[in-house]
Amino acid sequence: MKLALDPQMFFATSSALQLPDIVAGLGYEWMELSPKEDFIPFFKFPKVDTATVRKLRKTAADAGVGIASVLPVLRWSGPSEDERQAAVRAWKRAIEITVNLGVEVMNSEFNGRPEDPEHAEGQFLRSMDELMPIFEAEGLQLVLEPHPDDFIEDGLAAVNMIRGLDKDWISFLYCTPHTFHQGNDATGIIAAAADKVSYLHLADSLDHTAANGLRYIVNPPGSTARVHQHAEIGRGEVDFDEVFAALAGVGFDGVISSCVFGWDEIASEISIRQRDHARALIGKHFGADQAAAIHNDRTHKKPLIKKRLENSMPDTLTTDTSRKNDILHHWKAGHPFEGSSGNFAEVTNPATGEVSAQLALASVEDVNEVVAAATAAFPAWRDMSITKRTQILFRFRELLNERKEECAALITAEHGKVLSDALGEVSRGQEVLEFACGVAHLLKGGFTENASSGVDVHSTRQPLGPVAIISPFNFPAMVPMWFFPIAVACGNTVVLKPSEKDPSAALWMARLWSEAGLPDGVFNVVNGDKVAVDALLSHPDIMAVSFVGSTPIARYVYETATSHGKRVQALGGAKNHMVVLPDADLDLAADQAVNAGYGSAGERCMAISAVVAVGPIADELVSKIKDRTGKLRTGDGRRDSDMGPLVTAAARDRVSGYIDAGEAAGAELVVDGRGVQPDADGHGFFVGPTLFDRVGTEMSIYTDEIFGPVLAVLRVDSYAEAVQLVNENPYGNGTAIFTNDGGAARRFANEIQVGMIGINVPIPVPMAYFSFGGWKSSLFGDTHAHGTEGVHFFTRGKVITSRWLDPSHGGLNLGFPQND
Ligand code: NAD
Repeated sequence: MKLALDPQMFFATSSALQLPDIVAGLGYEWMELSPKEDFIPFFKFPKVDTATVRKLRKTAADAGVGIASVLPVLRWSGPSEDERQAAVRAWKRAIEITVNLGVEVMNSEFNGRPEDPEHAEGQFLRSMDELMPIFEAEGLQLVLEPHPDDFIEDGLAAVNMIRGLDKDWISFLYCTPHTFHQGNDATGIIAAAADKVSYLHLADSLDHTAANGLRYIVNPPGSTARVHQHAEIGRGEVDFDEVFAALAGVGFDGVISSCVFGWDEIASEISIRQRDHARALIGKHFGADQAAAIHNDRTHKKPLIKKRLENSMPDTLTTDTSRKNDILHHWKAGHPFEGSSGNFAEVTNPATGEVSAQLALASVEDVNEVVAAATAAFPAWRDMSITKRTQILFRFRELLNERKEECAALITAEHGKVLSDALGEVSRGQEVLEFACGVAHLLKGGFTENASSGVDVHSTRQPLGPVAIISPFNFPAMVPMWFFPIAVACGNTVVLKPSEKDPSAALWMARLWSEAGLPDGVFNVVNGDKVAVDALLSHPDIMAVSFVGSTPIARYVYETATSHGKRVQALGGAKNHMVVLPDADLDLAADQAVNAGYGSAGERCMAISAVVAVGPIADELVSKIKDRTGKLRTGDGRRDSDMGPLVTAAARDRVSGYIDAGEAAGAELVVDGRGVQPDADGHGFFVGPTLFDRVGTEMSIYTDEIFGPVLAVLRVDSYAEAVQLVNENPYGNGTAIFTNDGGAARRFANEIQVGMIGINVPIPVPMAYFSFGGWKSSLFGDTHAHGTEGVHFFTRGKVITSRWLDPSHGGLNLGFPQND
């Protein structure tokens, strides 16, 4: 048994950090943390940062005081949905705080309005659905109490609700100052709660029903206000012997917490007397041994669960890159999902080389469970009105816009790209989201009246069902956003399989969807490798697959998924050329070659990797590019760097290997990025900007997609040669021409066999309302990403021909219908 003090009467004069010493000074070994303005305030988001939480934990340990529980009071039962969602958000943070304090018990009230108990119960259960998996993952216990002016005021009703929730970690708190509001039957309520009663709040109160209700005179008469006190034992009418006898009768072995409020001026004296009263009552009803033992009970009944599922929902807290032991799981039906494969992969911070987390890799069974969630969510989502669907998209957009720095930080920590670049990627993804907010216009069908006599025809586009998105490491937020906003807006449900190298952005977005009010199961994340991908490609309930990655895998995904009858768009690798004509502005061309060649360390599918210098300008162009590379700062993306590391040690070694091969093949190595001295701590995976001149088309540095900061300059004599070179390349993602000749540019745009063309623009990524996609080996399938093609991909057309009864209809005619 633990005897605790809620030091509420010291709140006005003390900070949270001062409380442990106060509590210890009053002879308590345990403290309860109830709502406080600089901690977790009543009905508001917690106002304490993690550094302070850590300090509080240390201060408490130094004072020899354990924290028995954290007690948030938040409107998780509404009444409005906005209030409920804000409360859930605050609860999630309160849970993090509790975990960071090393505390395993949280207590609270039902916190809903008594005027509409059915609505409040519904809201409460909705919040519990969202929070229960987190409590479970964290190994936290939740203790609930009925409260005056709550939708559950009665003690037996509270016990019934707790039993209805049916979780061994949810239990009942008997609050003595609420005795007269909860039925004035301590014996009956505690007996009914029996093993479920784990907590006692200890204070006295007058019986507001006594003396014809005149213990308190409430004005005006008939007011529905509830009045009670949290007074010192002896100042009210609670029968403490009855309460303690009832507790002893059910073998109570929990927390007893003194919670007197309202006598701040004699807070210390009251707290000491309360402590002595409590000990006396324990001694009387439980025996002297128990009274003595309360000094020594500092053990946890239940071991703390170390697995931190909240890390499946990365947030500002978990952007801390020292989170070596974090486990990142999947996201299913609005909650983290552990899966059962038992296989994990390491996620590293490429700037330091340190392992930052362990990522769960899904088994086939795990994938099946996640797909089942998406399948279950589909009918309701499909049938939700477009207006409501897009309202959720708007909310997601607003949240993303407010908090995209969090996502960018996660990307930099796992991918390595510099923060500004990471933020840019999120913003480009956001543009697709904004496009998808207007999907209502794109889902409008056509209508033809009187197509035949008395016959009307209309067309409509309907969602497909659960769809899979499989994305690469290089744009962990933007590439998924090329697809999922449109898929979701059109009424599909989504299973996203992000790259195993940088999965946190996907999990972060999944949580954001939940915060935006997306129904559970509409957006899910499954982490994994080939096992997970193969399970998705062959799953009978997955209707379509959007893939982005390297060409061999794109081809494999296309062939496998289409053989299972799925609609597939598989975007592959690239080798993007920048053709520089003799009349080009060479400073502009050199700037852009550097930006597009080395930005994101060359790990962009639209990166320029081959500069085709036409005619006599090559020497000057190479010299200008070389000069510019000297100014680039390579280092940790969180510092003031221009270019970050490569994503993994293997990627760094592969890129270095290509530089070795280029040198051996006879290309002129103008700038060598091997052995660069980055501005970073640890052992990151850096290769500096590298420039080759006089590259031949047979060399591997030209034929292969290097996916690193390596620019190859090829020299050709004419425009025609340049076009031939680009068109003969097996890839056809993007290309750019730099020239001041409009005619040449126009001709280039017309005859080049590439999907996306830039004219004096090096990375011609189309706006969200156009579609993104390459030709040849850069895309398998015939539908590009986002824009109207995206809407087409995620819907299928239906044409309805209708004739409404008209006097002229009728008659038998077995001939093929003809229009008249
Ligand atoms: P990748 O092909 O290695 O991986 C892409 C996805 O496929 C990942 O989710 C990965 O887990 C999965 N995967 C990997 N190997 C697999 C296998 N054997 N079977 C089934 N699934 C497998 O690509 P990456 O290295 O993550 O990303 C870089 C590549 O993506 C580059 O080639 C780049 O050009 C390309 N890319 C293309 C575009 C585009 O628009 N065309 C955009 C971004 C990236």
